[in-house]
Amino acid sequence: MNHPENNDEYKGLTVNSGVGPVSIVNPYLNRKRFARKRFTADDYVKGILEGNTAILGQAVTLVESVNPEHQQMAQEVIEKCLPYSGKSVRIGISGVPGAGKSTSIDEFGVHVLKEYGGKLAVLAIDPSSEKTKGSILGDKTRMEKLSVHPDSFIRPSPSAGSLGGVARKTRETIILCEAAGYDKIFVETVGVGQSETACHSMVDFFLLIQLAGTGDELQGIKRGIMEMADGIVINKCDGNNVEKCQLAATQFRNALMLFPPSESGWMPKVLTYSGFYGLGIKEVWDMVFEYVDHVKANGYFEHRRNEQAKYWMYESINEQLRNNFFHNPTIVDMLQASEQAVLEGRKTSFVAAKQLLDSYFALLH
Ligand code: GDP
Repeated sequence: MNHPENNDEYKGLTVNSGVGPVSIVNPYLNRKRFARKRFTADDYVKGILEGNTAILGQAVTLVESVNPEHQQMAQEVIEKCLPYSGKSVRIGISGVPGAGKSTSIDEFGVHVLKEYGGKLAVLAIDPSSEKTKGSILGDKTRMEKLSVHPDSFIRPSPSAGSLGGVARKTRETIILCEAAGYDKIFVETVGVGQSETACHSMVDFFLLIQLAGTGDELQGIKRGIMEMADGIVINKCDGNNVEKCQLAATQFRNALMLFPPSESGWMPKVLTYSGFYGLGIKEVWDMVFEYVDHVKANGYFEHRRNEQAKYWMYESINEQLRNNFFHNPTIVDMLQASEQAVLEGRKTSFVAAKQLLDSYFALLH
């Protein structure tokens, strides 16, 4: 059946409210959408600076949108919020699925708000969430206490796009949250693959959640990831798991001692805790804030933020160049044939790449 919205007769009935077409079945269903004012960038900025979470949420939706018009508006909002951002402590929290991230973040968040006051935003980077569906990070239903806390803002990972794209959106969301007065930001990420590197590149403290397992905990963990950690915490240290956790902690401490001293002058700590039973939570956060005091005093805090800003400048350039190349209609037309030629051995990868790039550069002139 031809849907009414595909019928020319009804084409004029769509409304450019930025939210989609009006229902033909019941045009009054969307009455509110007619009434809804289209926000300008200044409206968003004003709402954000006032700490209006509904407007903050809508602005984050703009950041996540792939619609070029929304993107343009998002960039304007971000730019205007930038002078009000930066005044927060950003903490990355990583762990494999099942490590207890959401249970812990719920507990950590409540503790931090109670002990240190202020406002907390929980964001996430999970480039896999579109594919796996199951592992949604920053999922409110998995953070029961925090999701009803008046001083928290929880936002799941943007699901569309490459890791670079997802991470950039999270980074931009940090700016909006800070402008809205969130002075503590958690960035949750899955402890598999590249997303830790992306997370590490936008936080002040990187906390790695580990589990005690079979006694060879260090086997499965990549050296690079351990090097990124400012603190390693072994979760589920409860019941008859306590001894195993303490043993794992000793192994991690010994391993860390072999690493060269970090640029920050901070020796990463290893602690055990239980997110589920709320044991050892205070110690974890005493450690985080001890680190923050340490690096604020020796200038490393500023240095790391500056390095991250530089990194993100290059990342944005890379991402935009890549997008521009891969969305160029001529390149889109050529890509499949080139790929086929490489697969059939008629061209080497390098020749095919060079021809594509040459064609692209020729188009720019
Ligand atoms: P995530 O996938 O990393 O977010 O992990 P979850 O927070 O969903 O936890 C995975 C499972 O571990 C759940 O069944 C939790 O109840 C359990 N769990 C989380 N923290 C603890 C803990 O401290 N002790 C114990 N015994 N179980 C925990």
